[in-house]
Amino acid sequence: MRTRWSSSGSRLGRSPRRRLALTGAFALALAAMTTQGMLGAESLDPALPGAPPPPPIATAVPRRITTAVRMTYRVPVLMYHRITCAPRGAPLPGLWVCPRDLDRTMRLLRARGWTTITGAELADARAAGRPLPRRTFVIVFDDGNRDGYDRAYPILERYGFQGVFAVVVGRVDVKRRAMTWAELRELQEAGHEIANHSMSHANVARLDRAGLAREVGRSAARLRRHLGAWPRTFVYPYGSWDRSATRAVRAAHHSIAFTTVSGATSRSSDRLAAPRVRISRGDSPEGILRRLSAFD
Ligand SMILES: [Zn+2]
Repeated sequence: MRTRWSSSGSRLGRSPRRRLALTGAFALALAAMTTQGMLGAESLDPALPGAPPPPPIATAVPRRITTAVRMTYRVPVLMYHRITCAPRGAPLPGLWVCPRDLDRTMRLLRARGWTTITGAELADARAAGRPLPRRTFVIVFDDGNRDGYDRAYPILERYGFQGVFAVVVGRVDVKRRAMTWAELRELQEAGHEIANHSMSHANVARLDRAGLAREVGRSAARLRRHLGAWPRTFVYPYGSWDRSATRAVRAAHHSIAFTTVSGATSRSSDRLAAPRVRISRGDSPEGILRRLSAFD
């Protein structure tokens, strides 16, 4: 395993050290953005209960990255939905991917040297202007369906990958096909990231202030209450957003937000409207590898 993020002396993995390193990196990233004027004053307004306090101003950025590894600023973010073979008559059948196809794709990416980071780690690297090893990707599962736990999770574990599970917070422990808080805690403890995909899967581009507070801020606070950590990543339902929505996402202390616009994140990407690579039923592992390699 090549060393990345070596300021902590190990790959950011599953240990408490990782949380410490992330907290430090988050502080550095926020401090860097603040000095660059990228954050408005309201983004540091701790109006939300339990929201992280403004970070201290950092004085030094750790810069001990292995130089033998070729680096990149472009990171593709894969977007998956259901990990179940589509039943006959399934709505939006393109969104259903068979578990064996996900397994084949992950096996191929692993064999070709691809490794994952979380959305939070991508946000930290991007904010610090820090390149990442080539062949780094993020994999996001939208909507928080149970098959994320039952099917995607074991496959990710098999190949040593970390996933991002974007959950519709109001459905957790409520809808039968949604994951439970216990399952989400297990995923988080195993090193995967739980992201905010709104409270009710509302189209946040159409909401007033009160609606945005509920769908973006209150959902984040509820994630923190149940998981012990404020979410770093937001995923726009329907890939739909506007200026008010990005402002709400920033004010609620998310570090990065993903759309469904096609592309890889880079230094020039808007961190609050970051692109992704949509994976659909029928996409072959080789085709997905080709699409990722185009960004490498
Ligand atoms: Zn969704």
